[in-house]
Amino acid sequence: MQCIIVKKIYNFFVKFLNFMYNILMDNKHHIDIIRGKYKNIRLKISNNGEISLYAPKSLSNEKIIDFIKAKRKWIEKHIEKIDNMNKVKSTYDFENYGYIFNNAMPFGNIKKDTFYRNAFLNYIKPMVHELSIRCNLYYTSLSIVNSKRVWGSLDSNKRMKLNWKIVILPKELIVYIIIHELCHSQEFNHSKYFWSLVGQYIPNYKEIKEELKKFSFLLTSKIL
Ligand SMILES: [Zn+2]
Repeated sequence: MQCIIVKKIYNFFVKFLNFMYNILMDNKHHIDIIRGKYKNIRLKISNNGEISLYAPKSLSNEKIIDFIKAKRKWIEKHIEKIDNMNKVKSTYDFENYGYIFNNAMPFGNIKKDTFYRNAFLNYIKPMVHELSIRCNLYYTSLSIVNSKRVWGSLDSNKRMKLNWKIVILPKELIVYIIIHELCHSQEFNHSKYFWSLVGQYIPNYKEIKEELKKFSFLLTSKIL
């Protein structure tokens, strides 16, 4: 009997604490507090936006509250990123459509990989050529790569590699990626000078860089 009462009181406090934590987050996001045999305090945000906080049993509630306060901005940024990604994700139907510059086109009788390879050769290759001339920035060769990490690269021999998935992106993001790589022909590192060079061609490159982040899930998703 005593045990049940203790348990009830304990549960009440756990509920109360969770209530407090969520007030801290302006009730915007619910955080599940999980106490256990953990060495450190740790936050995990799943792809569907669920937030879990793992904390050692001995850690005081004040410390947990301080931790959430300190991480609040990070949590909000992360959740925003997931929301953006899900918004973009839900607008694509990669099974039935190929995407060129963000426009859906039915595959018809063409195989998916041929569709995207053709799109790359027909749209991206001429675009690289044209932008190179227009910006007076040169490259020696262009090849298509299938990278899970980057959209493009330019090595010290000015050989440009572009991820075939850039075909799918909105046009202004493709232009940004190409000009970014072309600027590496002048400056190898992401120095201040490099960004001032990018800014000469794309004054709002900071916004575009942010926009591109929404599409970064494409790099790792299997769409072929
Ligand atoms: Zn770069």
